[in-house]
Amino acid sequence: MDSVEVLMACPMDSYLEQQLEKSFKLFRFWTVPDKSSFLASHKDSIQAVVGNAFAGADAELIEALPKLEIVASFSVGLDKIDLAKCKEKGIRVTNTPDVLTEDVADLAIGLMLAVLRKLCESDRYVRSGKWKKGDYVLTTKFTGKKVGIIGLGRIGMAIAKRAEAFSCPISYYSRTEKPEIKYKYYPSVVELAAHCDILVVACPLTKETHHIINKEVIDALGPKGVLINIGRGPHVDEPELVSALVERRLGGAGLDVFEHEPNVPEELFGLDNVVLLPHVGSGTVETRQAMADLVIGNLEAHFQKKPLLTPVV
Ligand code: NAP
Repeated sequence: MDSVEVLMACPMDSYLEQQLEKSFKLFRFWTVPDKSSFLASHKDSIQAVVGNAFAGADAELIEALPKLEIVASFSVGLDKIDLAKCKEKGIRVTNTPDVLTEDVADLAIGLMLAVLRKLCESDRYVRSGKWKKGDYVLTTKFTGKKVGIIGLGRIGMAIAKRAEAFSCPISYYSRTEKPEIKYKYYPSVVELAAHCDILVVACPLTKETHHIINKEVIDALGPKGVLINIGRGPHVDEPELVSALVERRLGGAGLDVFEHEPNVPEELFGLDNVVLLPHVGSGTVETRQAMADLVIGNLEAHFQKKPLLTPVV
């Protein structure tokens, strides 16, 4: 397989790069100075693209690579891949489900605790020496808070299971009610937001879920409510979120993802009711290795004409 040309869309993970290099002829797209002449000269040879949450395969790249057979994403989210175009052209698509579920759910709970108990702010208080001048402010209890989840899939369910251990009543919104699940279903995001203390975004980013968190939802969540986003940045109308947080119309937010990563609205930097993370939901050594092994496993399966491990298209 070492003659199979694989294009990596952006920097992702050094272990993944090493493994790809062992088995394939790897090209790092971000290091290519003239992308159009590179694509023109490799259009008859590149057979695979490896993407992730930041760069994948859009219609333009797919059209530029007529020999493309597979897009293997180093992510579970597929929002950077033109799935319709892949289907139309018979290009296979794989992702990395399940292996990252626990890490993302752990992080969501971490964000809830960090926002309500002001963990990051308290840490800054101790480091700055302010503790010597007086005790820290009281914070908000997490146990028993009502948790509402948008998208009760693999990650949403794992968050629900963890929050249950904190005696949190769980409710959810998704396109369809799941009768086998005991949690309360709300048929709209606004109703869910109005009936919970902590609203978690855990659905995929699609045309329908773009700005699923808008002013109406934020108002329904209210000045004591907390938004946790471990989905994708564009799920949230960010200027609306920023104004609501600055004006204290929303209680707080724990954000792993942002609308224009790695740019984060600077108005958030001075607020003590937000916790900001650099899109690290799956960012542990163990999970990134498992994700990389899955990408390699899918590519090997495809080029050995075996069934894909985690096919999407
Ligand atoms: P999943 O198992 O496919 O679950 C997604 C859930 O979202 C499904 O239960 C689905 O239920 C629901 N959903 C789909 N479209 C919806 C819509 N229009 N409105 C409301 N709900 C909708 O996916 P997962 O493995 O849990 O991953 C979820 C997302 O998390 C990924 O797509 C990715 O963007 C994000 N993620 C982020 C990180 C990070 O680093 N922060 C890491 C991994 C994943 P219905 O079909 O019933 O609607």
